[in-house]
Amino acid sequence: MMTARLLRLTRPSRRALLAAALALPGLAVAAPAAPTPTPVRAVASFSILADWVRVVGGERVAVDVLVPPGADAHVFQPTPAHARQIAQAQAVFSIGLGFEGWLGRLLQSAAYRGLKIEVSQGIEPLRLAGHGHGHGHGHGHAHGDVDPHAWQSVKQAMVMVGRVAEGLCQADPAGCETYRANAAAYAGELRGLDAEIRTAWATVPAEQRRVITTHDAFGYYARDYGVRFLAARGVSTEAEPSAQGIARLIRQVRQEKVRALFVENISDPRLIEQIARDTGARPAPEPLFSDALSPAGGPAPSYAALMRHNTRALVRAVRGD
Ligand SMILES: [Zn+2]
Repeated sequence: MMTARLLRLTRPSRRALLAAALALPGLAVAAPAAPTPTPVRAVASFSILADWVRVVGGERVAVDVLVPPGADAHVFQPTPAHARQIAQAQAVFSIGLGFEGWLGRLLQSAAYRGLKIEVSQGIEPLRLAGHGHGHGHGHGHAHGDVDPHAWQSVKQAMVMVGRVAEGLCQADPAGCETYRANAAAYAGELRGLDAEIRTAWATVPAEQRRVITTHDAFGYYARDYGVRFLAARGVSTEAEPSAQGIARLIRQVRQEKVRALFVENISDPRLIEQIARDTGARPAPEPLFSDALSPAGGPAPSYAALMRHNTRALVRAVRGD
Protein backbone atom coordinates (compact mmCIF):
# COMPACT_ATOMS: atom_id res chain seq x y z
CA MET A 1 0.00 0.00 0.00
CA MET A 2 1.56 3.17 -1.26
CA THR A 3 -0.07 5.60 1.17
CA ALA A 4 0.80 3.54 4.22
CA ARG A 5 4.45 3.30 3.23
CA LEU A 6 4.67 7.00 2.47
CA LEU A 7 3.12 7.79 5.82
CA ARG A 8 5.72 5.74 7.67
CA LEU A 9 8.50 7.61 5.91
CA THR A 10 7.13 11.10 6.35
CA ARG A 11 6.15 10.84 9.98
CA PRO A 12 9.66 10.71 11.50
CA SER A 13 10.93 13.39 9.18
CA ARG A 14 8.09 15.69 10.20
CA ARG A 15 8.99 15.08 13.81
CA ALA A 16 12.64 15.81 13.02
CA LEU A 17 11.64 19.09 11.41
CA LEU A 18 9.62 20.01 14.46
CA ALA A 19 12.54 19.20 16.74
CA ALA A 20 14.81 21.34 14.59
CA ALA A 21 12.37 24.23 14.77
CA LEU A 22 12.12 23.91 18.54
CA ALA A 23 15.88 23.96 18.85
CA LEU A 24 15.96 27.44 17.40
CA PRO A 25 16.35 30.16 20.01
CA GLY A 26 13.21 32.22 20.61
CA LEU A 27 10.90 29.34 19.71
CA ALA A 28 10.33 27.97 23.18
CA VAL A 29 6.86 26.60 22.61
CA ALA A 30 5.73 23.35 24.18
CA ALA A 31 6.20 20.50 21.74
CA PRO A 32 3.08 18.45 21.10
CA ALA A 33 3.69 14.72 21.57
CA ALA A 34 2.43 14.02 18.07
CA PRO A 35 0.64 16.18 15.54
CA THR A 36 -3.10 15.82 16.14
CA PRO A 37 -4.90 15.77 12.80
CA THR A 38 -7.99 17.92 12.39
CA PRO A 39 -10.85 15.46 12.59
CA VAL A 40 -12.62 14.55 9.39
CA ARG A 41 -16.21 15.77 9.53
CA ALA A 42 -18.62 13.02 8.63
CA VAL A 43 -22.41 12.91 8.65
CA ALA A 44 -24.31 9.64 9.03
CA SER A 45 -27.96 9.43 8.04
CA PHE A 46 -29.14 7.60 11.18
CA SER A 47 -27.94 6.35 14.54
CA ILE A 48 -26.97 2.76 13.63
CA LEU A 49 -24.76 3.90 10.76
CA ALA A 50 -23.31 6.66 12.95
CA ASP A 51 -22.18 3.97 15.40
CA TRP A 52 -20.25 2.21 12.63
CA VAL A 53 -18.65 5.45 11.41
CA ARG A 54 -17.57 6.25 14.99
CA VAL A 55 -16.12 2.78 15.54
CA VAL A 56 -14.19 2.80 12.25
CA GLY A 57 -13.26 6.49 12.36
CA GLY A 58 -12.04 6.54 15.96
CA GLU A 59 -10.44 9.80 17.01
CA ARG A 60 -9.77 10.96 13.46
CA VAL A 61 -13.45 11.45 12.62
CA ALA A 62 -16.13 13.71 14.12
CA VAL A 63 -19.55 12.22 13.36
CA ASP A 64 -22.85 14.06 13.17
CA VAL A 65 -26.07 12.07 12.91
CA LEU A 66 -29.19 13.29 11.13
CA VAL A 67 -31.92 10.95 12.46
CA PRO A 68 -31.15 10.61 16.17
CA PRO A 69 -31.54 7.56 18.45
CA GLY A 70 -35.17 6.58 18.93
CA ALA A 71 -36.41 8.44 15.84
CA ASP A 72 -37.96 7.07 12.64
CA ALA A 73 -35.80 7.57 9.54
CA HIS A 74 -38.66 6.66 7.18
CA VAL A 75 -40.62 9.81 7.99
CA PHE A 76 -37.72 12.11 8.89
CA GLN A 77 -38.09 15.78 8.03
CA PRO A 78 -34.77 17.59 7.73
CA THR A 79 -34.45 21.16 8.98
CA PRO A 80 -32.09 23.99 7.94
CA ALA A 81 -29.84 22.94 10.86
CA HIS A 82 -29.35 19.56 9.16
CA ALA A 83 -28.48 21.30 5.90
CA ARG A 84 -25.80 23.29 7.79
CA GLN A 85 -24.34 20.05 9.20
CA ILE A 86 -24.21 18.62 5.68
CA ALA A 87 -22.59 21.76 4.27
CA GLN A 88 -19.68 21.39 6.72
CA ALA A 89 -19.12 17.68 6.08
CA GLN A 90 -16.46 16.01 3.96
CA ALA A 91 -18.24 12.66 3.81
CA VAL A 92 -21.93 11.76 4.03
CA PHE A 93 -22.81 8.15 4.78
CA SER A 94 -26.19 6.60 4.04
CA ILE A 95 -27.60 3.08 3.72
CA GLY A 96 -29.12 3.59 0.27
CA LEU A 97 -31.67 1.06 -1.06
CA GLY A 98 -34.27 3.82 -0.83
CA PHE A 99 -34.07 4.01 2.97
CA GLU A 100 -33.30 7.73 3.18
CA GLY A 101 -35.77 9.05 0.60
CA TRP A 102 -35.26 12.59 1.91
CA LEU A 103 -31.46 12.67 1.58
CA GLY A 104 -31.14 13.69 -2.08
CA ARG A 105 -33.10 16.88 -1.57
CA LEU A 106 -31.21 17.66 1.64
CA LEU A 107 -27.82 17.32 -0.12
CA GLN A 108 -29.10 19.55 -2.87
CA SER A 109 -30.38 22.24 -0.54
CA ALA A 110 -27.00 22.21 1.25
CA ALA A 111 -25.18 22.48 -2.11
CA TYR A 112 -23.11 19.55 -0.91
CA ARG A 113 -20.13 18.58 -3.08
CA GLY A 114 -18.24 16.22 -0.76
CA LEU A 115 -18.13 12.42 -0.77
CA LYS A 116 -21.37 10.47 -0.78
CA ILE A 117 -21.09 6.89 0.39
CA GLU A 118 -23.99 4.45 0.17
CA VAL A 119 -22.77 1.63 2.37
CA SER A 120 -25.22 -0.96 1.02
CA GLN A 121 -23.22 -1.28 -2.20
CA GLY A 122 -21.90 -4.83 -2.35
CA ILE A 123 -24.40 -6.39 0.05
CA GLU A 124 -26.85 -9.13 -0.93
CA PRO A 125 -30.09 -7.15 -0.96
CA LEU A 126 -33.37 -8.78 -0.06
CA ARG A 127 -35.82 -8.50 -2.94
CA LEU A 128 -39.37 -7.78 -1.92
CA ALA A 129 -41.18 -9.18 -4.96
CA GLY A 130 -42.65 -12.58 -4.15
CA HIS A 131 -41.28 -12.49 -0.64
CA GLY A 132 -44.72 -12.12 0.92
CA HIS A 133 -43.65 -8.97 2.63
CA GLY A 134 -45.87 -7.31 5.13
CA HIS A 135 -49.58 -7.06 5.28
CA GLY A 136 -49.93 -3.33 5.03
CA HIS A 137 -49.63 -1.21 1.95
CA GLY A 138 -46.04 -2.12 1.63
CA HIS A 139 -43.50 0.00 -0.05
CA GLY A 140 -43.22 3.73 0.28
CA HIS A 141 -42.69 5.65 -2.91
CA ALA A 142 -38.92 5.77 -2.59
CA HIS A 143 -38.40 2.14 -1.68
CA GLY A 144 -38.23 0.33 -4.98
CA ASP A 145 -38.25 -3.43 -4.72
CA VAL A 146 -35.56 -4.10 -2.13
CA ASP A 147 -35.73 -4.17 1.64
CA PRO A 148 -33.44 -1.44 3.02
CA HIS A 149 -33.13 -2.84 6.59
CA ALA A 150 -29.86 -4.67 5.82
CA TRP A 151 -28.30 -3.89 9.23
CA GLN A 152 -30.60 -6.52 10.74
CA SER A 153 -28.18 -9.07 9.27
CA VAL A 154 -24.80 -9.07 11.01
CA LYS A 155 -23.26 -10.59 7.88
CA GLN A 156 -24.48 -7.70 5.72
CA ALA A 157 -23.40 -5.25 8.45
CA MET A 158 -19.84 -6.54 8.09
CA VAL A 159 -19.90 -5.70 4.37
CA MET A 160 -21.28 -2.23 5.13
CA VAL A 161 -18.64 -1.58 7.80
CA GLY A 162 -16.03 -2.36 5.14
CA ARG A 163 -17.66 0.28 2.93
CA VAL A 164 -17.48 2.78 5.80
CA ALA A 165 -13.72 2.17 6.03
CA GLU A 166 -13.25 2.63 2.27
CA GLY A 167 -15.31 5.83 2.38
CA LEU A 168 -13.19 7.25 5.18
CA CYS A 169 -10.04 6.23 3.27
CA GLN A 170 -11.28 8.32 0.35
CA ALA A 171 -12.05 11.29 2.60
CA ASP A 172 -8.79 11.04 4.55
CA PRO A 173 -6.12 8.89 2.84
CA ALA A 174 -3.61 9.56 5.63
CA GLY A 175 -5.84 7.72 8.09
CA CYS A 176 -6.60 4.78 5.82
CA GLU A 177 -4.43 2.29 7.66
CA THR A 178 -6.18 3.20 10.92
CA TYR A 179 -9.64 2.91 9.39
CA ARG A 180 -8.89 -0.50 7.89
CA ALA A 181 -7.42 -1.74 11.17
CA ASN A 182 -10.43 -0.48 13.14
CA ALA A 183 -12.82 -2.07 10.65
CA ALA A 184 -10.96 -5.38 10.78
CA ALA A 185 -11.03 -5.44 14.59
CA TYR A 186 -14.75 -4.61 14.56
CA ALA A 187 -15.42 -7.29 11.93
CA GLY A 188 -13.95 -9.81 14.35
CA GLU A 189 -16.36 -8.59 17.00
CA LEU A 190 -19.27 -8.86 14.58
CA ARG A 191 -18.33 -12.42 13.61
CA GLY A 192 -18.59 -13.29 17.30
CA LEU A 193 -21.93 -11.50 17.53
CA ASP A 194 -23.31 -13.44 14.55
CA ALA A 195 -22.26 -16.74 16.15
CA GLU A 196 -23.83 -15.66 19.43
CA ILE A 197 -27.18 -14.99 17.74
CA ARG A 198 -27.11 -18.37 15.98
CA THR A 199 -26.38 -20.11 19.28
CA ALA A 200 -29.27 -18.27 20.96
CA TRP A 201 -31.72 -19.55 18.31
CA ALA A 202 -30.29 -23.05 18.10
CA THR A 203 -32.44 -24.40 20.92
CA VAL A 204 -35.73 -22.89 19.66
CA PRO A 205 -37.83 -25.27 17.49
CA ALA A 206 -38.47 -23.85 14.01
CA GLU A 207 -42.27 -23.86 14.40
CA GLN A 208 -41.98 -21.64 17.47
CA ARG A 209 -40.00 -18.95 15.68
CA ARG A 210 -42.89 -16.64 14.82
CA VAL A 211 -43.08 -12.99 15.72
CA ILE A 212 -45.44 -10.06 15.13
CA THR A 213 -43.95 -6.59 14.74
CA THR A 214 -45.17 -3.14 13.74
CA HIS A 215 -43.40 -2.71 10.41
CA ASP A 216 -41.52 -5.10 8.18
CA ALA A 217 -38.00 -4.28 9.36
CA PHE A 218 -36.70 -7.76 10.12
CA GLY A 219 -36.53 -9.48 6.72
CA TYR A 220 -32.73 -9.78 6.87
CA TYR A 221 -32.86 -11.09 10.42
CA ALA A 222 -35.47 -13.61 9.25
CA ARG A 223 -33.27 -14.73 6.34
CA ASP A 224 -30.13 -15.18 8.47
CA TYR A 225 -31.56 -16.65 11.63
CA GLY A 226 -34.63 -18.55 10.47
CA VAL A 227 -37.30 -16.56 12.28
CA ARG A 228 -40.66 -15.73 10.70
CA PHE A 229 -41.85 -12.15 11.13
CA LEU A 230 -45.37 -10.97 10.39
CA ALA A 231 -45.80 -7.23 10.27
CA ALA A 232 -48.78 -4.94 10.32
CA ARG A 233 -47.06 -2.54 7.99
CA GLY A 234 -44.73 -2.87 5.02
CA VAL A 235 -41.04 -2.03 4.88
CA SER A 236 -41.78 1.65 5.42
CA THR A 237 -43.69 3.24 8.26
CA GLU A 238 -45.07 5.87 5.87
CA ALA A 239 -48.20 4.00 4.79
CA GLU A 240 -51.05 3.35 7.22
CA PRO A 241 -51.89 -0.33 7.58
CA SER A 242 -55.18 -1.34 5.98
CA ALA A 243 -58.09 -2.66 8.03
CA GLN A 244 -57.87 -5.79 5.88
CA GLY A 245 -54.20 -6.24 6.67
CA ILE A 246 -54.83 -5.90 10.38
CA ALA A 247 -57.72 -8.37 10.25
CA ARG A 248 -55.54 -10.90 8.43
CA LEU A 249 -52.79 -10.46 11.00
CA ILE A 250 -55.25 -11.02 13.86
CA ARG A 251 -56.46 -14.22 12.17
CA GLN A 252 -52.89 -15.41 11.83
CA VAL A 253 -52.06 -14.68 15.46
CA ARG A 254 -55.08 -16.74 16.53
CA GLN A 255 -54.62 -19.63 14.11
CA GLU A 256 -50.89 -19.99 14.53
CA LYS A 257 -50.93 -19.16 18.22
CA VAL A 258 -48.15 -16.58 17.86
CA ARG A 259 -46.97 -15.66 21.32
CA ALA A 260 -44.40 -13.02 20.50
CA LEU A 261 -45.89 -9.58 19.83
CA PHE A 262 -43.54 -6.64 19.76
CA VAL A 263 -43.77 -2.91 19.64
CA GLU A 264 -40.77 -1.11 18.12
CA ASN A 265 -38.74 1.72 19.53
CA ILE A 266 -39.49 3.95 16.54
CA SER A 267 -43.21 3.25 16.07
CA ASP A 268 -46.52 4.07 17.64
CA PRO A 269 -47.38 1.12 19.95
CA ARG A 270 -51.16 1.45 19.53
CA LEU A 271 -51.47 -0.89 16.57
CA ILE A 272 -49.73 -3.75 18.37
CA GLU A 273 -51.76 -3.02 21.51
CA GLN A 274 -54.94 -3.31 19.45
CA ILE A 275 -53.87 -6.65 17.98
CA ALA A 276 -52.98 -7.83 21.48
CA ARG A 277 -56.43 -6.83 22.78
CA ASP A 278 -58.21 -8.54 19.91
CA THR A 279 -56.29 -11.79 20.23
CA GLY A 280 -55.69 -12.00 23.95
CA ALA A 281 -51.94 -12.11 23.32
CA ARG A 282 -49.66 -10.04 25.48
CA PRO A 283 -47.11 -7.66 23.92
CA ALA A 284 -43.53 -8.38 25.01
CA PRO A 285 -42.41 -6.18 27.89
CA GLU A 286 -39.57 -4.61 25.92
CA PRO A 287 -39.63 -3.07 22.43
CA LEU A 288 -37.56 -4.31 19.52
CA PHE A 289 -35.03 -1.81 18.20
CA SER A 290 -35.66 -1.83 14.48
CA ASP A 291 -34.36 1.30 12.74
CA ALA A 292 -32.63 3.26 15.51
CA LEU A 293 -30.41 2.85 18.55
CA SER A 294 -31.59 3.74 22.03
CA PRO A 295 -30.16 6.87 23.65
CA ALA A 296 -26.96 6.31 25.68
CA GLY A 297 -27.84 4.49 28.88
CA GLY A 298 -30.71 2.61 27.19
CA PRO A 299 -30.65 -1.08 26.26
CA ALA A 300 -29.34 -0.55 22.71
CA PRO A 301 -26.84 2.33 22.61
CA SER A 302 -24.66 0.57 20.00
CA TYR A 303 -25.29 -1.71 17.02
CA ALA A 304 -23.92 -4.77 18.82
CA ALA A 305 -26.02 -4.02 21.91
CA LEU A 306 -29.08 -3.58 19.67
CA MET A 307 -28.65 -6.99 18.03
CA ARG A 308 -28.04 -8.62 21.41
CA HIS A 309 -31.05 -6.95 23.01
CA ASN A 310 -33.38 -7.88 20.13
CA THR A 311 -32.19 -11.48 20.08
CA ARG A 312 -32.60 -11.90 23.82
CA ALA A 313 -36.08 -10.32 23.76
CA LEU A 314 -37.18 -12.39 20.73
CA VAL A 315 -35.97 -15.73 22.06
CA ARG A 316 -37.55 -15.06 25.44
CA ALA A 317 -40.87 -14.11 23.85
CA VAL A 318 -41.21 -17.04 21.42
CA ARG A 319 -40.40 -19.45 24.22
CA GLY A 320 -43.06 -17.83 26.39
CA ASP A 321 -40.54 -17.23 29.20
ZN1 LIG B 1 -37.94 0.56 8.77
